[in-house]
Amino acid sequence: MTLQQTFSLVFLTLINFGNPQSFSTSSTEVQKAPNVILFIGDGMGHSQLSSALYFGNKKPNYLRFPVVGLSRTSSSSHKITDSAAGATAFSCGVKTYNGAIGMGPDSTALPTILEKLEDQSWQSGLIATSSITHATPASFYGHVKLRKQEFDLAEQLIASKVDFFAGGGKRFFFRRLDEKNLFPAIEANNLLLDTLELTAKNWQEGKRYGYLLAEDGLPPVEEGRGDFLTEATNLALDYFKMQEAPFFLVVEGSQIDWGGHANEGNYLVSEMLDFDRAIGAALDFAEKEGNTLVIVTADHECGGFALKATTKKVPFMGEVDDYDSLSYSFGTDGHTGTMVPVLAYGPKAEKFGGIYQNNTIYEKIISAIMGL
Ligand code: MG
Ligand code: ZN
Repeated sequence: MTLQQTFSLVFLTLINFGNPQSFSTSSTEVQKAPNVILFIGDGMGHSQLSSALYFGNKKPNYLRFPVVGLSRTSSSSHKITDSAAGATAFSCGVKTYNGAIGMGPDSTALPTILEKLEDQSWQSGLIATSSITHATPASFYGHVKLRKQEFDLAEQLIASKVDFFAGGGKRFFFRRLDEKNLFPAIEANNLLLDTLELTAKNWQEGKRYGYLLAEDGLPPVEEGRGDFLTEATNLALDYFKMQEAPFFLVVEGSQIDWGGHANEGNYLVSEMLDFDRAIGAALDFAEKEGNTLVIVTADHECGGFALKATTKKVPFMGEVDDYDSLSYSFGTDGHTGTMVPVLAYGPKAEKFGGIYQNNTIYEKIISAIMGL
């Protein structure tokens, strides 16, 4: 089968889960489907995004996006979602209950966008600063009733077709509590695992590459994670450039959320700035290579984070707000129900303008891939 035929098949098969009515005469036109890079800032609301305007050394990369939308984040079970239901909305196109990974509200497994694309010979990748079995990345390859089933998710990742992944979570793969040895499965599934460092390989065709660089989540940027997120993004792009097929890559800034839960502004903002650097790397790639759709969004806001004024002492007036100096405040140590931003660049980016439910991001990606 030629490459052209492959993509023709991709388009035709995608009709099954796209929007058949709007699939018009363009079905005879075959063009290469765009690559898709989906950035998920876990817990990234508008104030988190805005913080990069004030606390970074340079202009945030996200200012380069031409299209902006708002995503409504509620899950099927709660007004306030968790990260499992939030990511499953993107990966499966349905709102589900809090805690569900790759499953619908009735706990039946649903195929994910990554799995559907892999079945059409796409390449795929997942990068996170949490364990790679954590709710957000897991929702793209895993199917479990409860997000805490990370040992099961490790096995599902090995058996999946994800071609490239990088993050933490060694303890779910090696020296496991259940003492199960996953090495035979790792080998049988053509997976080359590196648990030491994020370095390029002589990429071999047919091999999958995984980088597991911490027992659990990776350390925060403030505690020496370095430039992992950007380097892993660039490494994944280097891997995909070797391939002829288009790719679907998910990059998660996992710990923006953790800074919010901890009510630690410096933690949150350093993670936000780190996330923005990785976004810059993807935009550089998309601008250079073309035909790449880059989307940035969040599963929910976390912390009720605000960029508030500091206070200053003024003679005869006492303490007053200093509106020219920013500090942080938090309204909660949990998630909130606020809408979250969606930013888009590349082919069919305009689809992401407007106000819509989080699960429609799935449909928007599919139809952008189909060129609709
Ligand atoms: Mg997450
Ligand atoms: Zn959270």
